[in-house]
Amino acid sequence: MDVPLSCYACGTTAALADGARCDCGEPYWVQTDPSTFEWPDTSERSLWRYRALLPDVTPAGLAAGAGGTPLVRAPRLDDDVGATVHVKYEGANPTGTFKDRGSAVGVAAGAAAGDDAVGTVSHGNMARSMAAHAASAGLDCLVLVPADIPVERLALLARYDPTILRVEGDYGRLYRESLRVGSEAGVRFVNSDTPLRVAGQGTTALEIAESFAPDVPDAVVLPVSSGGHASGVWKAFRDLSAADLVDRVPRLYFVQTSACAPIAEAWARRDDVVTPVEAGETVAYSIANADPPSGNRVLAAASETDGGVLAVDDDAILDARRALASSAGLFVESACATVLAGARRLHDRGDLVADDDVVLVATGTGFTERDLDAPGVDAETVPLSALDETVARII
Ligand SMILES: *Cc1c(COP(=O)(O)O)cnc(C)c1O
Ligand SMILES: [Zn+2]
Repeated sequence: MDVPLSCYACGTTAALADGARCDCGEPYWVQTDPSTFEWPDTSERSLWRYRALLPDVTPAGLAAGAGGTPLVRAPRLDDDVGATVHVKYEGANPTGTFKDRGSAVGVAAGAAAGDDAVGTVSHGNMARSMAAHAASAGLDCLVLVPADIPVERLALLARYDPTILRVEGDYGRLYRESLRVGSEAGVRFVNSDTPLRVAGQGTTALEIAESFAPDVPDAVVLPVSSGGHASGVWKAFRDLSAADLVDRVPRLYFVQTSACAPIAEAWARRDDVVTPVEAGETVAYSIANADPPSGNRVLAAASETDGGVLAVDDDAILDARRALASSAGLFVESACATVLAGARRLHDRGDLVADDDVVLVATGTGFTERDLDAPGVDAETVPLSALDETVARII
């Protein structure tokens, strides 16, 4: 299967078989031809409605169910954020996160190319997503996890029956080595910022844009870790701009956890290159990549769209997570509650204003998290015989 690639930084072109990275050191993305792209005239709701901008593969099984997630208004958060708030709820994907978009495209491409096995490096959502999509497609799945992965996360992953290998050593190096080891062993690694994954994950932005068409939201806020999702979202808006389907690209804001914020720190220093950091403990463990492979590309996306990169701490994240559930009805993973915490900060510093339409991308469901903060639950116990009078008293 021939999938053309290009480098966002230097323009070099390549093919999928050439690997995931340009000689300049930056990641490739899938080269699309948006010039004739139009909003699709189909009732298909999954991400495959945008197949004109995707590698030419036909999905089977679970892959056909990825994407097509709801964009919901959250009017009760408007005052909180000082803008008109919309939430893109990625928890509605088959394994509960946007990772299914990238896994669907990667695994469908692997199946089309006749691969026997796919793989990934992840300790959480991407691992489960790849294992699920591989299971459905009948491919073996090799998941490389850090040796110290918490047992609850290992147990959830094991439900899909992939081959799991705990690897000791540096996670950033493991990410890079896996691509080489995989290509030698015949395992297609679909890692966080590899081209097929990024192509699939860009469909989050295509759906957001189509929901607003012919308007465009003013700002989109996304949690960021490796930078793969952010890269796909940026690429998708560039494509829509080239296709004349949007008259401007929204400001893209990316949020990290302050315990591990290499991209936000580079942004604050006005650097255009990210330096790896030591990760601290955080409730937002899904976005704690200390050596983000697409970090520089995220800086470029923030700068070219007039957006930014910021970091929020655990208290702000947990508070935002409670507000998303109690004011928008959306129970999300801590990692993506960062978007509301980030939007509050953007409002405080004047980057979000009253007539702005802002889209918070809630990347994953909270139902996969068992290690929750447990606030005291306020519920009295009454005998059945006292139900009438109690309800009358408390309602
Ligand atoms: C993976 C993940 C992210 C970060 O995405 P990147 O592409 O690695 O930047 C954000 N939120 C959730 C819930 C995730 O699983
Ligand atoms: Zn390059």
